Amino acid sequence: MNNPIYLDYAATTPMAPEVALAMTECLTLEGDFANPASLQHSFGERAYNLVETARIDIAHILKCKANDLVFTSGATEANNLAIKGLALSAQNKRKHIITSATEHKAVIDTCKYLESVGFKVSYLKPEHNGLINLDKLLAAITTETFLVSLMHVNNETGIIQDIAGIALALQDKELLFHVDAAQSAGKLNIDLSQIPIDLLSISGHKFYGPKGIGCLYIRNRKQQRLMPLMQGGGQEYGLRPGTLPTHQIVGMATAFKLAAHSLDKDNQHTQHLAQLISTQLKQLDGVHFNGDQQQKLASIINVSFDDVGSDSLMINLKDQLAIANGSACNTGTIEASYVLRAMGIEGDRLYGAVRISFGRYSTEKDIQHAGQCLYNEVLRLRQLALEL
Ligand SMILES: *Cc1c(COP(=O)(O)O)cnc(C)c1O
Repeated sequence: MNNPIYLDYAATTPMAPEVALAMTECLTLEGDFANPASLQHSFGERAYNLVETARIDIAHILKCKANDLVFTSGATEANNLAIKGLALSAQNKRKHIITSATEHKAVIDTCKYLESVGFKVSYLKPEHNGLINLDKLLAAITTETFLVSLMHVNNETGIIQDIAGIALALQDKELLFHVDAAQSAGKLNIDLSQIPIDLLSISGHKFYGPKGIGCLYIRNRKQQRLMPLMQGGGQEYGLRPGTLPTHQIVGMATAFKLAAHSLDKDNQHTQHLAQLISTQLKQLDGVHFNGDQQQKLASIINVSFDDVGSDSLMINLKDQLAIANGSACNTGTIEASYVLRAMGIEGDRLYGAVRISFGRYSTEKDIQHAGQCLYNEVLRLRQLALEL
């Protein structure tokens, strides 16, 4: 039997072969395995140079200062460091955060934690299409607000928030703007020299790099005294102690460079695939694409079929397709998606929603086969329900 087709790129992407190769060169005695802080010897110097070159390469793509980047274990940690780090820093005297109800758990649960220690959080409800209304955001700001944290691209729906517009509107306010760009980095251009974002999180494994590595951008890092989440050897300006994982950092930078280089090509490819599968699925009656269909990443499709539960669909197609309902981080619980719920999606459409996400290595043949499988299974399940 053939392997199922992997359609869960929003949960994680397979690593680019070029990235795997670059990483293997930083592991063994023959390679650059040394501790980048061991500057007393040439092994350490070489590792240090690789890490700092990687930092410069990433900064070059984001158009920011290399010194404003702090390596973390991923976007979860970067989000925690940004939000808790600011909230709990000695500089901060204010108590109010604004975020949205459709953020990733790494932001929502960090905010929930801060609420438990006395902070106030406003979770903005998006419009029905998943987009945040700028007037409602501005209306939520008080003299106590020190941070607005919003994601660039939503991991369940692919909805793209207008972070440039929001950043500009917030620019003259006495607060900082954090963006979780885990789903957009490497897929959409982010120009930090033009967009006044103060903090930005990215994650290597969402753009064909390794898992377990990410980074937090902090504009004018030296003036923002974030509280570190850990204490230790003082690496990363004391903001993120721990021996720097050269292979992970080199892997992420290699992947980011590749993604920046093939950004247009990758996007054309996924737009073409999205067109193919949408056309196939639209042949069915009672099919609903969730969220705004214009301001959206093509590579994430969130769709519901009338009278079909996402669980039956996924279980029955398990041998053919690897798709998701809700987000990967919430599996194990049979709860409906809190993201779709916050968008005001209810009933069948909420419980039936599945996420199909694809990318650079997905083929036309895969996508057409997936479309056919879904089409057939939806019809079969509806027929079965009629016969009951
Ligand atoms: C994947 C993801 C995260 C978490 O990133 P990790 O590197 O896996 O910790 C955070 N936010 C969004 C939007 C994501 O898609």
